[in-house]
Amino acid sequence: RAKQEGRGRLRFYEARMGVQVRERRQIEHDLRHAVERGEFRVVYQPQTRIDDGEAVGFEALLRWQHPERGNVPPDLFIPISEETGSILAIGEWVLRETCREAASWEKPLRIAVNVSAVQLHAPGFAELVHEILFTSGLTPARLEIEITETALIRDLPRALATLRRIKAMGVRIAMDDFGTGYSSLSNLRAFPFDKIKIDASFTRSVDSSEQAATIVRTVLGLGRGLGLPVLAEGVETTGELAFLGAEACHEAQGYLFGRPGPIDGFRHLTTGRPLAAEDAA
Ligand code: C2E
Ligand code: MG
Ligand code: MG
Ligand code: MG
Repeated sequence: RAKQEGRGRLRFYEARMGVQVRERRQIEHDLRHAVERGEFRVVYQPQTRIDDGEAVGFEALLRWQHPERGNVPPDLFIPISEETGSILAIGEWVLRETCREAASWEKPLRIAVNVSAVQLHAPGFAELVHEILFTSGLTPARLEIEITETALIRDLPRALATLRRIKAMGVRIAMDDFGTGYSSLSNLRAFPFDKIKIDASFTRSVDSSEQAATIVRTVLGLGRGLGLPVLAEGVETTGELAFLGAEACHEAQGYLFGRPGPIDGFRHLTTGRPLAAEDAA
């Protein structure tokens, strides 16, 4: 009886796996055409200086509107696109789109763009960044590239060489999701970072959990010691913000300041003028 049940369960799993494999193949296939079909768009989330509450930039976050599946989250499709190589075309589209957009802003705010390990290690990536900056006319210092620690480990010397060339153009480099990867401390020393982003999992409950608070204080101390500004991700409550302010964290990003959305919803920030009365109503 148990054996029979076991076999039934196994068949059930096999059937489900079959569906998952087919689904996955379909997503892989659809990703190859998503750029040309215009299914991607970029949403923007403000990054705010904590001491005076000024918006200093935005992070660009990719959204995929699949014709049948609807909105597919990046945590699902980015890893797949990295495995198949589609991320190269997708990432190039994101860089072009965001640099063009940011170049049109009245205020010279920064634009932070996530760059995958696959892009960083692809031949010609530094040249591509250079060409996109030139074509868009964006001042290089306004572009910030966000790299995760795991992006570095594949081929350390190569990643380092590419980052140095990009940095030499004046582009800034941020370490994203700090603390969630590994060998973070040696990476911080070896790579030319301009900013540390504390992962949202540490920011969360920083005002209620002594453990979380200790970790965030430690990262802030590390940033101070290395002369690197620190941004806290995923700030949702005034309690979290108060803690970060008291601990001299430089910048914050999270739902408390704004959810990622179309740039038109942030025009008051890119122009520096308040929204027109009819918009504000
Ligand atoms: P990330 O770069 O660490 O981006 C921050 C994520 O936290 C975003 O999720 C954002 O929407 C979310 N977030 C922001 N504030 C809050 C908050 O207060 N609370 C909570 N719970 N979440 C918040 P999203 O947009 O789903 O992106 C997930 C990940 O996908 C990103 O993590 C990044 O690793 C990747 N990704 C997104 N766009 C791109 C892209 O254009 N290229 C590459 N290579 N990766 C991207
Ligand atoms: Mg990021
Ligand atoms: Mg992050
Ligand atoms: Mg992340």
